[in-house]
Amino acid sequence: MITVLRIGHRPERDKRITTHVALVSRAFGADRILVDTRDLDLERNFTSTCQRWGGSASIKTGVKYREEMKNFKGQIVHLTMYGEELGKGMATLDPKKDLMVVVGAEKVPREVYELSTINISVGNQPHSEVAALAVFLYSYHGSKMPKFTDGQMKIVPDPRGKTVLENDTDD
Ligand code: SAM
Repeated sequence: MITVLRIGHRPERDKRITTHVALVSRAFGADRILVDTRDLDLERNFTSTCQRWGGSASIKTGVKYREEMKNFKGQIVHLTMYGEELGKGMATLDPKKDLMVVVGAEKVPREVYELSTINISVGNQPHSEVAALAVFLYSYHGSKMPKFTDGQMKIVPDPRGKTVLENDTDD
């Protein structure tokens, strides 16, 4: 079970980037997305994407990050440019344990570094929570993308255009 915790979400400023955090979490194999600020639009949009494209990922907004981290029974990875190098950090993780991945927005409170099992960087340059999350989850799954078979729609990879099947016409 993989949980992604997004902290520091400001609905007016971060709508698009937090939506991308949620979409990347789902597409790259996370089961649960938690966001620290209540945002019903975000919940609705994400749930609608899951209905159309499949999977069972859930989203909950308005959580208390401290409680979520303290009560989490598993390993917690905080993604930050200051953390351990990706390969070395990844090697310390136990794939049998539940995983929580924490990403920030602007400044991340010091205690997040301390409540985490490990702080991991995706390169030691500042970039984006969306990029860091995608690279981390992709590496965690051994460079494989999960498959979604139960959506209303399914894309057939097409090098020349767009091919989308409705689920009931699927093979
Ligand atoms: N000073 C921040 C940091 O500690 O990484 C950069 C802020 S960045 C706008 C927002 C979020 O992107 C961070 O909280 C972190 O989760 C993620 N992030 C940015 N660069 C990263 C990197 N090189 N490695 C891992 N995560 C990164």
